[in-house]
Amino acid sequence: MTQPTPSNRPVRTRIAPSPTGFPHVGTAYIALFNLAFAKAHGGEFILRIEDTDQTRSTEQSEKMILDALRWVGLDWAEGPDIGGPHAPYRQSERSDLYKKYAEELLDKDHAFRCFCTPEELDAMRAEQMANGETPRYDGRYADLSREESDKMVAEGKPYVIRMRVPTEGTCIVNDMLRGEVEIPWSQVDMQVLLKTDGMPTYHLANVVDDHLMDISHVIRGEEWLNSAPKHQLLYEYFGWEMPTLCHMPLLRNPDKSKLSKRKNPTSITYYRDAGMLPEALLNYLGRMGYSMPNEEEKFTLEEMIASFDIKRVSLGGPIFDVEKLSWLNGEWLRALTPEELKNKILAWANDSDKLTAIAAAIQPRINLLSDAVNWAGFYYQNLPNITAEDFEHKTLTPEQVIEILQITLWKLEVLPEWSEANIYATLKGLSAALNIKLRDMMAPFFIAIAGSTSSTPVMNSMYVIGADMTLNRLRHAVEVLGGLGKKKLKKLEKTSADLPDFLADSAE
Ligand code: GLU
Repeated sequence: MTQPTPSNRPVRTRIAPSPTGFPHVGTAYIALFNLAFAKAHGGEFILRIEDTDQTRSTEQSEKMILDALRWVGLDWAEGPDIGGPHAPYRQSERSDLYKKYAEELLDKDHAFRCFCTPEELDAMRAEQMANGETPRYDGRYADLSREESDKMVAEGKPYVIRMRVPTEGTCIVNDMLRGEVEIPWSQVDMQVLLKTDGMPTYHLANVVDDHLMDISHVIRGEEWLNSAPKHQLLYEYFGWEMPTLCHMPLLRNPDKSKLSKRKNPTSITYYRDAGMLPEALLNYLGRMGYSMPNEEEKFTLEEMIASFDIKRVSLGGPIFDVEKLSWLNGEWLRALTPEELKNKILAWANDSDKLTAIAAAIQPRINLLSDAVNWAGFYYQNLPNITAEDFEHKTLTPEQVIEILQITLWKLEVLPEWSEANIYATLKGLSAALNIKLRDMMAPFFIAIAGSTSSTPVMNSMYVIGADMTLNRLRHAVEVLGGLGKKKLKKLEKTSADLPDFLADSAE
């Protein structure tokens, strides 16, 4: 089963972030290629928020993602913030719509109701795993007659709607970069489309919206390639024209593993705060798996668009190397006139909220305005100048210090909201759990964050410099202290996982 590549269709591409965390550089990378492709073909690039996962989506995350994409210079023609002919652009505001489409599939018998309880699904999974099989839905409600199914609904039994999937044969997915990709149907699950609460899953909402929003080309990360058969089938079931698919290679750490915040800063806001120029970050992302016809290393977005050809994307995993990015940023900075550079520095430092927070923190400590240079410098630094000796502690062993920093790093990484109350709850909770006085525990944090024990209150500093900057400094501190061996890291990870997450509300 192949899908013809649609021709003569006005080009419309989209970025569809889920607002469940920090604005990831991978989102900007995918957005960049969508925008470049659309612009190179005289089309439009739009933004849609995929917040169907209500437990993980937050307004704060949505705002950060939109701000970050705009900062980096990727503008969309339609979106939740600016509206457009296909509004609303936030899936949580479109939920009635998906239900209608799921029911359409039910009526056409392309989908069925599944009444499995969570316990039943767990048991199914456990049994399959015990038999060495890959866990998947076994189709136990697929053959229930519509009558029986309606009867169970009338009895008030909760259900989900699952799509029917062929059990035999191979699905052929056409990908712009990979050509025909073969995926056996036996590997494709009877995907849930509509959940018990009537909310759609990603797969249903994504296909319905791409269709209704007239998306002609779906350019997205390689991790979605395995979902393509389900999507292709849904387009067929609905009788809709399928957008052309293009799965981009994933960004990688220098050690080739998938880019992750455990090894590298991955948040766009970190790069902004560290003083990268948005033009340089975009330029660097444009070089991820892609090269300009003239092999130029330094180029603008306009230059990239002018000669853009998606076929020049190569599939080898592009390495996102922070040092190379810094080098490229330096090239951009050196190409400026001193006047332009001055303006860039002023614009970067002129974050009014941050400056006010810093002013409040240093106010009790300064006699001259010029004292601000010493007290406030670390708020702007990327990493403080520190050595292992700086961490020497009167009661804690070096081993304890590194463990405290590492566990705190893990606990802070998963905070749902970066607030002073949550930072405090985490440190206080850890000090109690590890049986170390909070006062004693704080000294290493002063060094890691501010580079000195005589500084402004450190939990406030962490809040003011932000999550990415804080986490990166803690990661750096662990490295300066010699890091943790694989074995110790594993053990510590278990200790950390056994501790609860300390959030402000539950800590009261
Ligand atoms: N919401 C999905 C994501 O967060 C979108 C994937 C897609 O582009 O289809 O990546």
